[in-house]
Amino acid sequence: MERNIKTIGILTSGGDAPGMNAAIRAITRTARFHDMNVVGIMRGYQGLIEKEFVRFTSSSVSNTIQRGGTILKTARCKEFMTAEGRKKAYENMLEAGIDALVVIGGNGSLTGAQLFAREYDIPIIGLPGTIDNDLYGTDSTIGYDSALNTIVDCVDKIRDTANSHDRIFFIEVMGRDAGFLAQNSAIASGAEAAIIPENGGTDVDQLAEFIERGKRKSKNSAIVLVSEAHKNGVGGAMYYAERIKNEYPQFDARVTILGHLQRGGTPTAYDRILASRMGYAAIEALLEGQRNVMIGIKNDEIVYVPISRAIKMDKPINQELIAVLNVLSM
Ligand code: ATP
Repeated sequence: MERNIKTIGILTSGGDAPGMNAAIRAITRTARFHDMNVVGIMRGYQGLIEKEFVRFTSSSVSNTIQRGGTILKTARCKEFMTAEGRKKAYENMLEAGIDALVVIGGNGSLTGAQLFAREYDIPIIGLPGTIDNDLYGTDSTIGYDSALNTIVDCVDKIRDTANSHDRIFFIEVMGRDAGFLAQNSAIASGAEAAIIPENGGTDVDQLAEFIERGKRKSKNSAIVLVSEAHKNGVGGAMYYAERIKNEYPQFDARVTILGHLQRGGTPTAYDRILASRMGYAAIEALLEGQRNVMIGIKNDEIVYVPISRAIKMDKPINQELIAVLNVLSM
């Protein structure tokens, strides 16, 4: 159903991700190109509830494409999880004349968007903005490539120390319940192993397998990328270092948790281009009468994915990546 959209609102929500500014810029400039008004909503859903609205022009997004974080700021907003909070948000949108919303965020943010669109008659377009790369229906999310490069940079530095001592370094990276960051940064940094939630679930003892493989190798030091994901108390770098102390005392283990430095920094060229294409596509989608879809990228083509699918389906990790790491780390 096509409708005449005069004013769009843009918000960023959840964890910030490099490339969000490039997306905001692309959405703003494409909307202005089509003579739509643009309202920047500050601090995600919180700003929608508290009417933190800023009128955006093309120049509002000048000199932002290279900046990390998000100029709209972001927040985690408990109130939006309640029906009253969403009602307030809707009333504020009506009052401000916002008739469509573009939400840039991760799984949680798009879950909120889906609920909001079900309750109220608002066209919403989602953009996958998260370093975790855990949204179904898109090969990559905005921020993932930048975070991956940051992690690889850090691991390269830790490698110098690891090579100077005979140690196992467990490096914990983000990813929530997904192992994309851990697996691919392990391949890119030449690490010895990755421990990720997608590899066999809790039935497989990935640490024991790694030690077993190591016995056949001539290396004295090792770097293991560990996903932050926890299942039933199992997971995270500290957990595995503790097990080394108790079960394999012949090894010396060290832990590095990369934490928030993974989110910061300038976006890579890949993320800037991805965010620009997705932001442009978000407005094109609205003009075509699309609603409640997430913009994704598949085999370098922009695709529309129903938000309901993007948030509910588990995105599988390519098993070939696991085989590649196992073989190449010999
Ligand atoms: P990241 O992947 O970077 O952590 P995210 O979007 O998954 O980002 P969340 O903290 O899960 O981050 O969600 C961001 C916000 O989205 C929440 O603070 C809340 O305002 C909204 N949200 C999340 N889940 C829901 C829900 N079930 N109903 C309504 N709103 C939600």
